[in-house]
Amino acid sequence: MDFSIPEELRMLRDSARRFVQQELLPLEPLYANEADIPDDVRARLQAKAKELGFWIFDLPEACGGGGVGYVGMCLVCEELARCNVPSFRAPTVFTPYLGPVLFRCTPEQQQKYLYPVINGDKRTCFALTEPNGGSDPSQMLTTAVREGDGYRINGTKIFITGADKADFVQLFARTPEGVSCFLIDRDTDGMRLGQSFELMSPDRPWEVVFDNVFVPASQMVGEPGRGWELAREFLDVGRLIHGPKAIGRAERVLELAMAYANERKTFGEPLANRQAIQWMVADSAVELNAARLMTMHAAWKADQGMDFHIEASQVKLCADEMLMRVADRALQIHGGMGLSRELPLELIFRDARSRLITEGSSEMQRMIIAREMLSGRSSVNRL
Ligand SMILES: Cc1cc2nc3c(=O)[nH]c(=O)nc-3n(C[C@H](O)[C@H](O)[C@H](O)COP(=O)(O)OP(=O)(O)OC[C@H]3O[C@@H](n4cnc5c(N)ncnc54)[C@H](O)[C@@H]3O)c2cc1C
Repeated sequence: MDFSIPEELRMLRDSARRFVQQELLPLEPLYANEADIPDDVRARLQAKAKELGFWIFDLPEACGGGGVGYVGMCLVCEELARCNVPSFRAPTVFTPYLGPVLFRCTPEQQQKYLYPVINGDKRTCFALTEPNGGSDPSQMLTTAVREGDGYRINGTKIFITGADKADFVQLFARTPEGVSCFLIDRDTDGMRLGQSFELMSPDRPWEVVFDNVFVPASQMVGEPGRGWELAREFLDVGRLIHGPKAIGRAERVLELAMAYANERKTFGEPLANRQAIQWMVADSAVELNAARLMTMHAAWKADQGMDFHIEASQVKLCADEMLMRVADRALQIHGGMGLSRELPLELIFRDARSRLITEGSSEMQRMIIAREMLSGRSSVNRL
């Protein structure tokens, strides 16, 4: 078993680290508590990323990408996650928010939707959650009823990240064959933004209303009734990427906590000399390392084309809960300063809390894992 990182990926990760230090961290004081960065700043950073050869580093070579796969994606994402510049919590400076659904499109749909997103000319969002419940999408009320050569869509989605900036929505709606996926352009009659949600984290997701929206059948992705498979594929990738995002943030707060523990003296000695503090550091380091190994294993399976559905849920559960504990300890080690807005700890703590709910709550990840195990579809040893 070889745990070494291939040389080209190591170089990519090191360049990403430099980019974060030189380009992104200086922006943190300006935008850390904003939902997004201004469009002109985003355009400048994306242009720089393109110039340095980062742009779409993770996408397949067949569509012009760097083809570094999920392992490479995780290594870079971990570096980007060390910075609290909005929308770089997701790696969108190096690659568009896209998901795997658009790769399942017809060549005509790909020309209209996939490639403009890849080129950075269009943006998209993923709309599954509804007001009556995100955890149980079988309760979906949004309908797409067949009418002539198209579908008539009615319903409401909530908590949709990036809906305000999206040129089109990847929408999931109930059709007679089951749930289906549609691509809905922003200016389509009857589609509108509803309220935006102000949360404890800086995210500002949106409600999106579909009121008698008509789309031609050519706007459907894949076969009618195949929407669950597409949504699951999207969520599996999203949950896997929760791993490096949590690891990058946890690394940062643990480094801050260790530096503070070495420097801060109480009762004549540095905090680092106290066993209570040492154990917090040790537990954090152990949990961080476990989450990293789990993430890399899942990413490796994804790169081999192996099923990683259960691994994606394990990664999300393990890494996000790890970040919550590591951020909590780091904040505690800092005492009053940990609560101060002068340091990034309280923001990372708030963000960590929200991650236990987004893209499927911790309870849902436990449910998926238990279901796969108890049904016999998954075994105890997944190596
Ligand atoms: C910042 C943010 C961004 C988001 N972005 C998007 C997006 O882009 N697109 C999108 O479609 N959605 C998005 N969501 C929605 C998110 O996926 C849902 O909020 C999440 O799936 C939980 O659904 P819910 O809020 O309806 O909670 P509910 O489903 O109502 O659940 C409430 C609580 O009950 C628990 N629970 C539910 N059922 C069970 C059970 N059977 N057993 C035990 N516990 C249970 C849940 O774990 C949760 O803690 C976003 C949410 C947030 C906060």
